[in-house]
Amino acid sequence: MTLPIADRTMTELGALLRTGQLSSRELTDASLERIDRDAARLNSFLAIDADGARRAADEADAALARGEGADRPLLGIPYALKDIFVTRALDFDGNPLPGGLPTTAGSRILAGYRSPFASSAQERLEAAGAVLLGKTNCDEFAMGSSNENSAYGPVRNPWDETTVPGGSSGGSSTAVAGGQAVFALGTDTGGSIRQPASLTGTVGMKPTYGRVSRWGMIAFASSLDQCGPFARSVRDVALVLHALAGHDPRDSTSVDTPVPDYAATLTGDVTGMRLGVPHEYFVPGMEPGVETAVRAAIDTLRGLGAEIVDVSLPSTDRGLATYYIIAPAEASANLARFDGVRYGVSAAADELWENYAQTRGAGFGPEVKRRIMLGTYALSAGYYDAYYVKAQQVRTLIKAEFDEVLATVDAILAPTSPNVAFKIGAKVDDPLAMYLNDACTLPVNIAGLPGISVPCGLSEGLPVGLQVIGRAFDESSVLRVADAYERTAGFANLRPHTAHD
Ligand code: GLN
Repeated sequence: MTLPIADRTMTELGALLRTGQLSSRELTDASLERIDRDAARLNSFLAIDADGARRAADEADAALARGEGADRPLLGIPYALKDIFVTRALDFDGNPLPGGLPTTAGSRILAGYRSPFASSAQERLEAAGAVLLGKTNCDEFAMGSSNENSAYGPVRNPWDETTVPGGSSGGSSTAVAGGQAVFALGTDTGGSIRQPASLTGTVGMKPTYGRVSRWGMIAFASSLDQCGPFARSVRDVALVLHALAGHDPRDSTSVDTPVPDYAATLTGDVTGMRLGVPHEYFVPGMEPGVETAVRAAIDTLRGLGAEIVDVSLPSTDRGLATYYIIAPAEASANLARFDGVRYGVSAAADELWENYAQTRGAGFGPEVKRRIMLGTYALSAGYYDAYYVKAQQVRTLIKAEFDEVLATVDAILAPTSPNVAFKIGAKVDDPLAMYLNDACTLPVNIAGLPGISVPCGLSEGLPVGLQVIGRAFDESSVLRVADAYERTAGFANLRPHTAHD
């Protein structure tokens, strides 16, 4: 069965574009039609620029006609940005640019906010010739695992619209799963790319901390945040990552190290690679269908000639507690800038303190307030040593355990999420149950390592993800393992029922 244009991989579509069998305008229209049909119902987009997208597609078609597609795999490909990336919407005099997209971070406090500059990620994708469709819904300031914390309402999972698409990049995962964008960007502070990829049957990657610039990405927890792609194949992810990666002098944490040609490393060959399976990642409470699918995926890689070895990461169960000190602490500092003076909405009270209180009181949602309170408490005099310093010590321990294991294996295999997509509303009243969603992804951010989620089948009709974790700056091995698996596993064409015209 051939898939509709809107649901195919970028690699396949790129070949059609370069040989003139498809134009970027036709492809962009196919994505926009799917957005028209489904986006309001699924609540996946917060802003759409259809005219701008068509204009960019026409420019891409002109470039393709000049033969410029050969070494520009993203040329003419429509994509979406999580609404945590600022997009330039004002000119140098502060006047609105036509078609300029607002940036909200999923928060009421930034309703209608227009940025005077673009994120580095957007600039790089623009230079690569990709076509921006719009901004996707997300949990407020990227805090969440289900996309139910957006001030603009929950996103629905196209696989089953009564379930969540994962979070916090749920609009991006839904857009890619549902044929509304060929690829999308998300951000991952504790799992927000990999977990929604797992829950929507897409491929999602968090690169090594420092691999991709965070310039223009609204900060949640600066020492953990990293941006990365969602796409429909590992190769597509490799191509987008290649366009994004590299040193950016505007982000002092971006690392100046060579960027390999990731797609060229996808040989399909994992013979002799040593892959570690940490038993601690098969966490208590994991759904049996998820465990079955992940274990079968590990067997598939063994069948391909990889050597599977048992490894141990004993501090895994401390990841959650460590993360929920460090991330809120950094968030409480980062979110201080939303004061009703500098950005977005202001309560316009007569007195300054009153203005802060009213703006932040009305502008932030309950989860963001919870994190600010937790973080402020953990950083306050008297508690700083007991909580924040302790968490940083455990962080060092977690990182050291990964380093030790990754000295003996080429990559680590684990579940991405202990569960498949759950019902909207099922966990909103239980923050601890919600936080448990990220038990298998958080440690990777704590250690700053690269990780990918690749579909490994269905459990009760809903997608399951296999996570591959690698050494710092060795995205190539992670991608190679995931790609080899994807080629043989037979799940590359899994699409939700919405993938029909
Ligand atoms: N779910 C985690 C949280 O709520 C991670 C979010 C993320 O990666 N942005 O903090």
